[in-house]
Amino acid sequence: MNLLEMSYEEVVDVVKQMGLEKYRADQLLDWVYKKRVFTFEGMTNLSKEHRALFREKFTVKLPRLIEKRVSKIDKTTKFLYELEDGNTIESVLLFHEGYATACISTQVGCPIKCAFCATGQSGYVRNLTVAEIVGQVLAVENDSGRNIRNVVYMGMGEPFLNYDNVVKSIKILIHPKMKDMGVRRITVSTVGIPDKITRFADEGLDVRLAISLHAASNEKRDTIVPINRKYSIEEVLQAAKIYQEKTDRRITIEYILIKEFNDFDEDARRLAKLLKDLKAYVNLIPVNATSASFERPSHWKMVRFKEILLENGIEAELRQEKGADIEAACGQLRLRRMQAKS
Ligand code: SF4
Repeated sequence: MNLLEMSYEEVVDVVKQMGLEKYRADQLLDWVYKKRVFTFEGMTNLSKEHRALFREKFTVKLPRLIEKRVSKIDKTTKFLYELEDGNTIESVLLFHEGYATACISTQVGCPIKCAFCATGQSGYVRNLTVAEIVGQVLAVENDSGRNIRNVVYMGMGEPFLNYDNVVKSIKILIHPKMKDMGVRRITVSTVGIPDKITRFADEGLDVRLAISLHAASNEKRDTIVPINRKYSIEEVLQAAKIYQEKTDRRITIEYILIKEFNDFDEDARRLAKLLKDLKAYVNLIPVNATSASFERPSHWKMVRFKEILLENGIEAELRQEKGADIEAACGQLRLRRMQAKS
């Protein structure tokens, strides 16, 4: 069994069934999650006998790195990984002042099909397993030589369409005997599936939640985030409010700015009105042109959009595009490789 698929309790159960004491499970997990040693031979505080027993019982399989690109502009690093069945996924390492964040995928492809997203354009294949989600964090650490203290579930796929595996992977990442990450350092980014958001609020995980809104009217959002026809902006924000009330977390609103589509003063005012009852923080992101249909607004237009939000009491930040020279936006690298193969 793949150790990365297992919760702490599951590992302890198996270790006890093997006739070993619980602290042997702790030692094993410490090697894998803290020391990043993935071969049993390297676990030197275990006896030869115990190493052989663990080798018989467990495997530790990370996604296999097949391409790595580092931005010359800002060091953003993109990793293309191959899974055991030959499918590929992307993970990205982003650098901010003094810390690095891993952006990880939850699905192979994505069924949501947002109009501006390369992953959406490439179609949907399947959900990732827990091991494939957790494995990305360990693989990015391994392949970059950096300790990852921040993780965003914002890569390929919609996390709440792979709900159970995402929740289990978070429990592994925050468990003190496993990856031991702070809950405040984990963000789940969703297009907004109301019943999953409210269920997530009851998990007691208290991680950060980001909602990809991208438009301030249902009419506009319907055209770029098709799932909006099923779940309106109001329903999504109502669920976000419930999440906020239960977790006391500020909600991040992701808003991709597209020239002459959702960048008008009226959009900014409408967005401010929608968010007035939410403790929200808006990330304004210039669209990454994956198709000729979308252009980014001028810098002054984006600044003006932000100013209108601020004037209306909504905190907002204009984000710089990361890794512009390495196709760092979600799904671009994988899509290019798929197109090259076909
Ligand atoms: S932006 Fe996210 S939810 Fe939308 S298609 Fe891309 S991966 Fe899926």
